[in-house]
Amino acid sequence: MHSAIPHLIELQRVDHLMAAVRAEIETFPKRVRDADAKLNGARAAVLAAKEGLVNSQKERKKFELDVQQWKDRAKKYRDQSGAVKTNEAYKALQHEITNAEGEVAKAEDAQLEVMMTGEEAERRVKHAEANLKEDETAVAKERKEIESQQAEKKKQLESLLAERERALAPIPEDLRELYARIAKRHHGVGLAEARDGQCRGCGMRVLPHTLQELRRDPNEEIYRCESCGLILYTLEPIPLPDPAAGSGHAASSASNHS
Ligand SMILES: [Zn+2]
Repeated sequence: MHSAIPHLIELQRVDHLMAAVRAEIETFPKRVRDADAKLNGARAAVLAAKEGLVNSQKERKKFELDVQQWKDRAKKYRDQSGAVKTNEAYKALQHEITNAEGEVAKAEDAQLEVMMTGEEAERRVKHAEANLKEDETAVAKERKEIESQQAEKKKQLESLLAERERALAPIPEDLRELYARIAKRHHGVGLAEARDGQCRGCGMRVLPHTLQELRRDPNEEIYRCESCGLILYTLEPIPLPDPAAGSGHAASSASNHS
């Protein structure tokens, strides 16, 4: 196996971690937006309640004017009634006065009703504002939590970048490029283990000759899977050339450590 393989394996491990951390960092802006969006409903409720209040105030003004107008009219008729000459004219004025007073009473009733709905509208505004405030507090807390998680992930990414530099340092330039090229085509995967005669990247068979070469140590060749193109490595122990009878295990472990 090429002497740079362990470093490439380490590089790939770090790259996978970095990709996971980056993917998580990418979710943060959306999480912040989602948290903010939780306020939309409460904000709309405040606006609607305020609109309701403004409408009821307008209506109240209108009935106030009505009351005033009818009162003025009744007063005018009463003033006139002192100066009328005929009984008929007097009766007619009395009729107008009664009518105007009736309208005053009607407008006052309507005004009272509007005042009551106005109070209800005021309560609704207060309630909606309190709800919004509560939601804002919760969302602010959530945002703070998201921000601290984000800061934590950025720190992680920085330390992984340093780890990546360390893994990269001993790898020759041409192998770095090869790894980068392959990983780019394979969603960040540049290497695959050859195990049980198979490429673990794609499941295809690895030629016995290639397996043999992979197990030969050291070896300055790079072997790639013929079907998927990933750089192959093996963690399988180097088999004994010909285990002599009698010295089985001791010989095996000795040869593995040499
Ligand atoms: Zn393969």
